[in-house]
Amino acid sequence: MREKLVAGNWKMNGGLAQNKALLEAVVAGMAGVQGMGCAVCVPYPYLFQAQSSLKDSAIAWGAQNLSQHDKGAFTGEVSAAMLLDFGCKYVLVGHSERRAIYGEDDATVALKFEAAQKAGLTPILCVGESLEERESGVTEAVVARQLDAVTGKFGVAALSKAVVAYEPVWAIGTGKTASPEQAQAVHAFIRGKIATQSKAVADGLVIQYGGSVKGSNAAELFGMPDIDGGLIGGASLDAQEFLAICHAAK
Ligand code: 13P
Repeated sequence: MREKLVAGNWKMNGGLAQNKALLEAVVAGMAGVQGMGCAVCVPYPYLFQAQSSLKDSAIAWGAQNLSQHDKGAFTGEVSAAMLLDFGCKYVLVGHSERRAIYGEDDATVALKFEAAQKAGLTPILCVGESLEERESGVTEAVVARQLDAVTGKFGVAALSKAVVAYEPVWAIGTGKTASPEQAQAVHAFIRGKIATQSKAVADGLVIQYGGSVKGSNAAELFGMPDIDGGLIGGASLDAQEFLAICHAAK
């Protein structure tokens, strides 16, 4: 059976004092919880703080982006090896904000996915359609293209050590969650597509949902057969809200 995974994506939020309170509350609220995974993806400067606060807990941590390059003259970039130095388990790749604001295309996302995996990090590959794409009926085509960019290059086995996060762009930060049925339909499409290449990889693949998940809608979303937890933006900055979401995944 797949274990659900709830991961916070703090985005560009936080500060030392505020993080300390948040991390301590999450550690306390998750003590003794078993049967699900919990992680936080924090801004780079706070990786050391996350590591110090979480190393004796069952909560994992990670980053929100990485360079596709190993090292060298790439001013402002951060490599997979650097993330490992701070004990990261996960790294987001291809978040829609990276794609839309920083111009990361499918090929770049695939290289970042590879760099993460080669170093031993677990990439969380984010996929999802815009509102315009949904309304023009190309949701599945867009998600398929985003997945193919990785599996076409590295084979379906690459997904056996990765997580996929389905995040419809129109649901991110908008308060407009996909309905459990809408999300389930795309999750089932993703799993079905992977199953045509490998049933074992498809059965084991954790597919998170992301986009306006809150304590009040998490249980319904996570109750769907192909939704294996969530990638949480805004609500991951509030300890009580994040804990409610984590507990809904038990
Ligand atoms: P919100 O939960 O704020 O909608 O953000 C979702 C997201 O982008 C997580 O990566």
